[in-house]
Amino acid sequence: MSPPTQCLILLSGGQDSTTVALQAKTRYEDVHALTIHYGQRHEIEVESALAVGKALRVASHEIIELGNVLTSTSPLVSNNSVDIFARSEDVPEGVANTFIPSRNALFLTLASNRAIALGISTVGTGVCECDYSGYPDCRRVFIDALEEALSLGNFGEKGKFKILTPLMFLTKAESVKLAQNLLGVEEFKKMFELTHTCYQGIKGGCGHCAACLLRDKGFIEAGVNDPIWKFREA
Ligand code: ZN
Repeated sequence: MSPPTQCLILLSGGQDSTTVALQAKTRYEDVHALTIHYGQRHEIEVESALAVGKALRVASHEIIELGNVLTSTSPLVSNNSVDIFARSEDVPEGVANTFIPSRNALFLTLASNRAIALGISTVGTGVCECDYSGYPDCRRVFIDALEEALSLGNFGEKGKFKILTPLMFLTKAESVKLAQNLLGVEEFKKMFELTHTCYQGIKGGCGHCAACLLRDKGFIEAGVNDPIWKFREA
């Protein structure tokens, strides 16, 4: 059996999914993107995903408008405020309150539907177990279980449907270096200037939510300047 030539990437517009899409571009002839607008508070995430998809020249880019289907106390989909911290060391261990139950299960299930409709059996996502807020659905053990369920449910047997998680065991710093190696310094700046990470929806980053602080820590450890960081200039 020849290796697949196409894949579909869940592209959120953040640093991780952008890196996964970049890597996929080096390995597949056609990389398709899927972005899911699930009623998250900040439109900037979808705008970033569109800009990244365009810059990557993906083969197709669908935005699914789900509306407010995910109910949670998570500040990402409610009016609860986002926790802010002085430094990354202050971000507590354990599952962060930004976690949204079953979000990844829903997104990957939708991605499997779109992928299979396009004749694609490989979906990529930027989830990772390191430096990542303790979300249980970002672990490979969950991805393995879902991959098997989607393969059985769609193809009747195991091993037919694949979920790629190339960042799963990389630190944020390693992900930054991977992306910079793939693009080169100048192209990396242009591409990552388009990405968005901040939980508060602030363009360029608030610098104090867990997402900003983890991103910042990764770039500092990698020895790379983050092109989005505006708060440093203040
Ligand atoms: Zn922030």
